[in-house]
Amino acid sequence: MNGTSKEHEIWFLTGSQELYGTDVLRQVDAQSRDIAGILDNASQVKARVIHRPVLTDAGAIRKMFQEANADEACIGVIAWMHTFSPAKMWISGLDALRRPLLHLHTQADLHLPWARLDMDYMNLNQAAHGDREFGYIQTRVGVPRKTVAGHVSDPTVAERVGTWARAAAGLHAMRKMRLARFGDNMRNVADTEGDKVDAELHFGVSVNTFGVNDLVDAVDSAPEAHVKGLVEEYQDLYDVAPELRAGGDRHESLRYGARIEAGLRAFLEAGDFTAFTSNFEDLGGLRQLPGLAVQRLMADGYGFGGEGDWKTSVMLRTLKAMADGLPGGTSFMEDYTYHLVPGEEKILGAHMLEVCPTIAGGRPSLEIHPLAIGNREDPVRLVFDAAPGPAVILGIIDLGERFRFVANEAQVVPPDEPLPNLPVARAVWRPAPNLRTSSEAWLTAGGPHHTVLSTALHAEHLWDLADMTNTELLLIDQETQMRRFIQELRWNQAYYRLAQGF
Ligand code: MN
Repeated sequence: MNGTSKEHEIWFLTGSQELYGTDVLRQVDAQSRDIAGILDNASQVKARVIHRPVLTDAGAIRKMFQEANADEACIGVIAWMHTFSPAKMWISGLDALRRPLLHLHTQADLHLPWARLDMDYMNLNQAAHGDREFGYIQTRVGVPRKTVAGHVSDPTVAERVGTWARAAAGLHAMRKMRLARFGDNMRNVADTEGDKVDAELHFGVSVNTFGVNDLVDAVDSAPEAHVKGLVEEYQDLYDVAPELRAGGDRHESLRYGARIEAGLRAFLEAGDFTAFTSNFEDLGGLRQLPGLAVQRLMADGYGFGGEGDWKTSVMLRTLKAMADGLPGGTSFMEDYTYHLVPGEEKILGAHMLEVCPTIAGGRPSLEIHPLAIGNREDPVRLVFDAAPGPAVILGIIDLGERFRFVANEAQVVPPDEPLPNLPVARAVWRPAPNLRTSSEAWLTAGGPHHTVLSTALHAEHLWDLADMTNTELLLIDQETQMRRFIQELRWNQAYYRLAQGF
């Protein structure tokens, strides 16, 4: 599946004005081409950065933004005022812009040439005041944007531009996302519910429900060759339990697991879906709860939420698109149980079955065990421990009037001891700043019990996505103090109500 790639374009726009004359504008154009080229070649920026001609009047600016809006490949726009670009020229263009915007505040040269500094040099290199004029008009028009200051030779600049470009790729994936729900939400559960009309308006994602027997038809009609091929693939990729191998007592269960994967893939591909949900209360004619199939589809970039949780499925697909190609992994997750020994506090996260093998620390084992819920045959599943390392955990809730993101920085750690009696994939982590503050803040914010855990992304990716979708983000990190966090909640509540208008 496609996530971010060099197929995606970021347009690099440079502002100036006719007053400078053609010689200066030629230099402006050449220097902005160089800067766009540096960002285009930067390994941190996983999108093409396309230099566009220097903009010097309102009509050209508006036209450029309208082209950006209409161009499927363009996922975002960078703007830099190399010289002074009177900003009333930018009003109608900025007002029309429907792509994420990054304001790059930079300058062509790192060093001021003190000894030969003259007024010509000053006039050519005046982003210091051109970008202030542009910052003002962005604020006045109320355009969401990320501002990045610094010379492009500073790796931090490329890193921050790249982080924003990944968030833009996430938004791009959201806006074209079609999500298939097999069955509704788990009965009586509140935090997995939400307003699908608002989701489509706010994020662009289209969420629709199918009868689970539509999926059963696809499973039952999966071609034998596809099933056989998947079983062979499993034996290459995983440590398959002897009872599941060809000739083993329960090989037929593995073949049925492969049949679910083949059918589910065919259904999603036929409908151009990039995310889905299941519900163990509504399995129709499925003989197993989909475990292995869900795990493998997540690994290929699909969003997933258990118990009909389409909001978490949307966020998993989005974060996977953002993280594409980065080391680490991104998974559906559920806070399950605590280790509460003072000074060693940890969270053990897992699900009934559905944790994505991209976060695995080693080669997963493919096993079969009973499952008390779902009332079906024993399901096949991958079992592993998550690889240690820094992580972010993201939850999404619907407050009735809007969506809220709640996130936590964390450190995934190895389990204190082996877990021979826990037949599911799992992650153990230490939440920042500590379990007490993390959980008190999460609960006070109304954070959900399902999340996305990513060891590929960090907090700035989440901030950039929140800003470009105008979604509240409450981040619990090393700095979080409960009293300040409660104040932030109260202030945000007022801000987001006012910002919605009347
Ligand atoms: Mn769950």
